Amino acid sequence: MTEVVLRVEGLCKSFSGVHAIRDLSFEVESSEVMGLIGPNGSGKSTTVNSLAGTFPVTSGEIVLTGTSIQHLPECERVELGLARTFQTANVFPEFTVRQQIALGCEATLKSSPLSSVFGAEYRQGESEAIEARMHDLLEITGLLDVADDLVGTISSAQQRFLMVATALASEPKIVLLDEPAAGLVSHERKTLSDLIKAIRARGIAVLVIEHHMALIMDVCDRIVVLNFGSKIADGTPAEIRSNPAVIDAYLGEVSDA
Ligand code: ADP
Ligand code: MG
Repeated sequence: MTEVVLRVEGLCKSFSGVHAIRDLSFEVESSEVMGLIGPNGSGKSTTVNSLAGTFPVTSGEIVLTGTSIQHLPECERVELGLARTFQTANVFPEFTVRQQIALGCEATLKSSPLSSVFGAEYRQGESEAIEARMHDLLEITGLLDVADDLVGTISSAQQRFLMVATALASEPKIVLLDEPAAGLVSHERKTLSDLIKAIRARGIAVLVIEHHMALIMDVCDRIVVLNFGSKIADGTPAEIRSNPAVIDAYLGEVSDA
């Protein structure tokens, strides 16, 4: 049975007079991959930042599994099950891959401060549940072989997958991915598609922003299209692909190269 994980109602965000998002409403269900597409500057990143709590919204409601979250700080939204990645790789180069993912796990360890994740308790194997989760995350993101490498030494594609692993480490109900395929080559995009489908198979909802249309059409169950901050379409990939307003505003200009 599906449930609505995220409901956005009448969301507006202005930056000193610039209406970045205008009256945006949509829902995402559990085990659903929703794409958010549109031209540059159409408000995609602003939507993700508003959902994640990077800045306050101007008006509107954001409901995560029944709880209004628009007034909550970022960290509380993570605890309630909303995780995100950034448009650019956002990692600590001096950490190992394993340590970086452990930072994501921290969100679900309310009784256990960060020091215990890295400290003696962790090394003595008292956090077996974390170890098991860590192994699973390393495996589905293809990072097992580089688990003990420094983040600064792995490839940029691996750093992108690491951001997804870190987001998943907080055991989210929904994960927001802002342009996860940026800079990836063809076989890495295939790995990303498989990863997004694996996330969905675990019952986690995904909201993905991407310009790469072949990837979007492959992974998404539904797509919302923004133009000048407003929603101009909401439908299946087949519906979106043949929607004249979408072709006119956006699809006519993008390629899958
Ligand atoms: P997209 O991700 O679709 O390319 P953005 O959400 O980044 O678009 O931007 C939407 C609009 O909001 C643009 O006009 C952009 O200039 C503006 N904008 C985004 N972030 C800020 C900010 N922090 N301050 C001022 N204007 C912003
Ligand atoms: Mg953006």
